[in-house]
Amino acid sequence: MIKRIIFATGNEGKMKEVRSILSDMNVEVLSMKEAGIKIDVKEDGTTFEENAMIKARAIAAVCDDIVLADDSGLEIDFLNKEPGVYSARYLGEDTSYTIKNQNLLDRLQGVPEDKRTARFVCAIAAVFPDGSCETVTAAMEGQIGDEARGENGFGYDPIFYLPEYGCSTAELSMEQKNEASHRGKALRAMKQILLEKLGES
Ligand code: IMP
Repeated sequence: MIKRIIFATGNEGKMKEVRSILSDMNVEVLSMKEAGIKIDVKEDGTTFEENAMIKARAIAAVCDDIVLADDSGLEIDFLNKEPGVYSARYLGEDTSYTIKNQNLLDRLQGVPEDKRTARFVCAIAAVFPDGSCETVTAAMEGQIGDEARGENGFGYDPIFYLPEYGCSTAELSMEQKNEASHRGKALRAMKQILLEKLGES
Protein backbone atom coordinates (compact mmCIF):
# COMPACT_ATOMS: atom_id res chain seq x y z
CA MET A 1 0.00 0.00 0.00
CA ILE A 2 1.27 3.49 -0.84
CA LYS A 3 2.39 5.34 2.29
CA ARG A 4 0.75 8.65 3.08
CA ILE A 5 2.64 11.72 4.26
CA ILE A 6 0.68 14.59 5.73
CA PHE A 7 2.36 17.99 5.62
CA ALA A 8 1.02 20.17 8.43
CA THR A 9 0.35 23.43 6.65
CA GLY A 10 -2.51 25.41 5.21
CA ASN A 11 -0.12 27.18 2.83
CA GLU A 12 -0.56 26.08 -0.81
CA GLY A 13 2.84 27.48 -1.84
CA LYS A 14 4.58 25.22 0.68
CA MET A 15 2.52 22.21 -0.49
CA LYS A 16 3.63 22.84 -4.06
CA GLU A 17 7.28 22.90 -3.02
CA VAL A 18 6.93 19.77 -0.86
CA ARG A 19 5.12 17.86 -3.62
CA SER A 20 7.73 18.84 -6.17
CA ILE A 21 10.69 17.76 -3.98
CA LEU A 22 9.08 14.46 -2.90
CA SER A 23 7.56 13.74 -6.34
CA ASP A 24 9.87 10.85 -7.20
CA MET A 25 9.14 9.01 -3.95
CA ASN A 26 6.51 6.33 -3.83
CA VAL A 27 4.31 8.24 -1.39
CA GLU A 28 1.11 10.24 -1.43
CA VAL A 29 1.63 13.75 -0.03
CA LEU A 30 -1.46 15.35 1.49
CA SER A 31 -2.17 18.72 3.07
CA MET A 32 -4.08 18.75 6.37
CA LYS A 33 -7.17 19.86 4.49
CA GLU A 34 -6.87 16.97 2.02
CA ALA A 35 -6.47 14.57 4.94
CA GLY A 36 -9.58 16.06 6.58
CA ILE A 37 -7.64 17.23 9.64
CA LYS A 38 -8.69 20.52 11.18
CA ILE A 39 -6.84 21.47 14.34
CA ASP A 40 -5.31 24.69 15.48
CA VAL A 41 -1.94 24.19 17.12
CA LYS A 42 -0.43 26.75 19.48
CA GLU A 43 3.20 27.25 18.43
CA ASP A 44 4.62 28.19 21.81
CA GLY A 45 8.12 26.74 21.45
CA THR A 46 11.24 28.88 21.73
CA THR A 47 13.10 27.38 18.76
CA PHE A 48 12.17 26.54 15.16
CA GLU A 49 12.78 22.83 15.91
CA GLU A 50 10.48 22.89 18.94
CA ASN A 51 7.68 24.58 17.03
CA ALA A 52 7.95 22.19 14.09
CA MET A 53 7.85 19.23 16.49
CA ILE A 54 4.88 20.64 18.43
CA LYS A 55 2.92 20.89 15.17
CA ALA A 56 3.96 17.47 13.86
CA ARG A 57 3.13 15.70 17.15
CA ALA A 58 -0.27 17.37 17.42
CA ILE A 59 -1.26 16.16 13.94
CA ALA A 60 0.32 12.72 14.44
CA ALA A 61 -1.88 12.27 17.51
CA VAL A 62 -4.99 12.26 15.30
CA CYS A 63 -3.87 10.12 12.35
CA ASP A 64 -1.91 6.97 11.43
CA ASP A 65 0.24 8.53 8.73
CA ILE A 66 3.74 9.99 8.59
CA VAL A 67 3.44 13.66 9.55
CA LEU A 68 5.81 16.46 8.53
CA ALA A 69 5.65 20.01 9.86
CA ASP A 70 7.89 23.02 9.36
CA ASP A 71 8.67 26.23 11.12
CA SER A 72 10.72 29.02 9.63
CA GLY A 73 11.74 32.60 10.09
CA LEU A 74 14.31 35.35 9.67
CA GLU A 75 17.23 35.90 12.07
CA ILE A 76 18.99 39.29 11.92
CA ASP A 77 22.30 39.20 13.79
CA PHE A 78 22.39 42.94 14.63
CA LEU A 79 18.93 42.61 16.27
CA ASN A 80 19.94 39.63 18.43
CA LYS A 81 18.36 37.25 15.93
CA GLU A 82 14.98 39.01 15.86
CA PRO A 83 12.34 38.44 14.56
CA GLY A 84 13.30 34.72 14.77
CA VAL A 85 10.51 32.39 15.85
CA TYR A 86 8.24 35.44 16.00
CA SER A 87 8.70 36.24 12.28
CA ALA A 88 5.04 35.72 11.37
CA ARG A 89 3.85 37.53 14.53
CA TYR A 90 6.37 40.42 14.36
CA LEU A 91 4.48 43.76 14.83
CA GLY A 92 1.26 41.73 14.79
CA GLU A 93 0.09 38.82 12.62
CA ASP A 94 -2.16 41.08 10.50
CA THR A 95 0.40 43.83 9.88
CA SER A 96 1.46 44.04 6.24
CA TYR A 97 4.96 42.99 5.21
CA THR A 98 5.48 46.43 3.66
CA ILE A 99 5.27 47.82 7.20
CA LYS A 100 7.26 44.99 8.84
CA ASN A 101 10.03 45.27 6.24
CA GLN A 102 10.22 49.07 6.50
CA ASN A 103 10.39 48.78 10.29
CA LEU A 104 13.36 46.41 10.07
CA LEU A 105 15.10 48.67 7.52
CA ASP A 106 14.58 51.62 9.90
CA ARG A 107 16.03 49.66 12.81
CA LEU A 108 19.12 48.93 10.71
CA GLN A 109 19.50 52.49 9.41
CA GLY A 110 23.19 53.43 9.30
CA VAL A 111 24.37 49.90 10.20
CA PRO A 112 27.33 49.04 7.93
CA GLU A 113 27.06 46.19 5.42
CA ASP A 114 29.30 43.77 7.33
CA LYS A 115 26.99 44.01 10.37
CA ARG A 116 23.77 43.40 8.39
CA THR A 117 24.18 39.61 8.24
CA ALA A 118 20.99 37.57 8.47
CA ARG A 119 19.59 34.17 7.59
CA PHE A 120 16.34 32.45 6.85
CA VAL A 121 16.05 29.27 8.92
CA CYS A 122 13.73 26.32 8.39
CA ALA A 123 13.23 23.34 10.69
CA ILE A 124 11.23 20.33 9.55
CA ALA A 125 10.00 17.71 11.99
CA ALA A 126 8.77 14.23 11.09
CA VAL A 127 6.73 11.95 13.32
CA PHE A 128 6.32 8.34 12.20
CA PRO A 129 3.42 5.99 13.01
CA ASP A 130 5.73 3.97 15.32
CA GLY A 131 6.20 7.12 17.43
CA SER A 132 9.78 7.82 16.34
CA CYS A 133 10.66 11.33 15.25
CA GLU A 134 13.36 13.31 13.46
CA THR A 135 14.16 16.97 12.84
CA VAL A 136 16.35 18.69 10.28
CA THR A 137 17.30 22.37 10.13
CA ALA A 138 18.75 24.36 7.26
CA ALA A 139 19.57 28.00 6.63
CA MET A 140 20.08 30.41 3.75
CA GLU A 141 22.69 33.05 4.65
CA GLY A 142 22.45 36.60 3.37
CA GLN A 143 22.15 40.17 4.58
CA ILE A 144 19.53 42.85 5.04
CA GLY A 145 19.60 45.25 2.10
CA ASP A 146 19.21 49.05 2.18
CA GLU A 147 15.75 49.02 0.61
CA ALA A 148 12.92 46.63 -0.30
CA ARG A 149 13.40 45.20 -3.80
CA GLY A 150 11.50 42.71 -5.98
CA GLU A 151 7.97 41.42 -6.38
CA ASN A 152 8.41 37.64 -6.14
CA GLY A 153 8.30 35.49 -3.04
CA PHE A 154 6.59 36.62 0.15
CA GLY A 155 7.20 37.91 3.66
CA TYR A 156 10.67 39.30 4.24
CA ASP A 157 11.99 38.39 0.78
CA PRO A 158 12.22 42.01 -0.52
CA ILE A 159 14.74 43.04 2.18
CA PHE A 160 16.78 39.81 2.19
CA TYR A 161 19.77 40.29 -0.10
CA LEU A 162 21.87 37.40 -1.45
CA PRO A 163 25.37 38.70 -2.33
CA GLU A 164 26.15 35.69 -4.56
CA TYR A 165 23.06 36.38 -6.72
CA GLY A 166 23.41 40.18 -6.51
CA CYS A 167 19.71 40.61 -5.73
CA SER A 168 17.05 40.10 -3.07
CA THR A 169 15.21 36.79 -2.73
CA ALA A 170 12.11 38.64 -4.01
CA GLU A 171 13.98 39.09 -7.31
CA LEU A 172 14.71 35.37 -7.77
CA SER A 173 12.54 33.06 -9.87
CA MET A 174 10.68 30.39 -7.91
CA GLU A 175 13.09 27.73 -9.20
CA GLN A 176 16.15 29.75 -8.07
CA LYS A 177 14.58 30.41 -4.67
CA ASN A 178 13.69 26.72 -4.11
CA GLU A 179 17.21 25.74 -5.06
CA ALA A 180 18.85 28.14 -2.59
CA SER A 181 16.21 28.38 0.12
CA HIS A 182 16.30 27.21 3.71
CA ARG A 183 13.03 25.32 3.11
CA GLY A 184 14.30 23.62 -0.07
CA LYS A 185 17.50 22.53 1.70
CA ALA A 186 15.64 21.25 4.77
CA LEU A 187 13.12 19.39 2.60
CA ARG A 188 15.87 17.68 0.62
CA ALA A 189 17.58 16.65 3.89
CA MET A 190 14.27 15.31 5.23
CA LYS A 191 13.73 13.42 1.98
CA GLN A 192 16.93 11.45 2.65
CA ILE A 193 15.64 10.50 6.11
CA LEU A 194 12.29 9.45 4.65
CA LEU A 195 13.99 7.35 1.97
CA GLU A 196 16.03 5.53 4.62
CA LYS A 197 12.99 5.02 6.88
CA LEU A 198 10.89 3.69 4.02
CA GLY A 199 13.73 1.51 2.76
CA GLU A 200 13.95 3.21 -0.63
CA SER A 201 17.55 4.40 -0.48
P1 IMP B 1 5.94 29.79 9.08
O1 IMP B 1 7.09 28.86 9.02
O2 IMP B 1 4.91 29.51 8.03
O3 IMP B 1 5.40 29.94 10.47
O4 IMP B 1 6.49 31.22 8.62
C1 IMP B 1 7.24 32.03 9.44
C2 IMP B 1 7.43 33.41 8.85
O5 IMP B 1 8.80 33.55 8.51
C3 IMP B 1 6.69 33.75 7.58
O6 IMP B 1 5.42 34.25 7.83
C4 IMP B 1 7.59 34.85 7.00
O7 IMP B 1 7.38 36.04 7.68
C5 IMP B 1 8.96 34.36 7.38
N1 IMP B 1 9.56 33.55 6.31
C6 IMP B 1 9.83 32.22 6.35
N2 IMP B 1 10.38 31.81 5.19
C7 IMP B 1 10.44 32.89 4.40
C8 IMP B 1 10.90 33.10 3.05
O8 IMP B 1 11.34 32.19 2.33
N3 IMP B 1 10.78 34.36 2.58
C9 IMP B 1 10.29 35.38 3.31
N4 IMP B 1 9.84 35.25 4.56
C10 IMP B 1 9.92 34.01 5.11
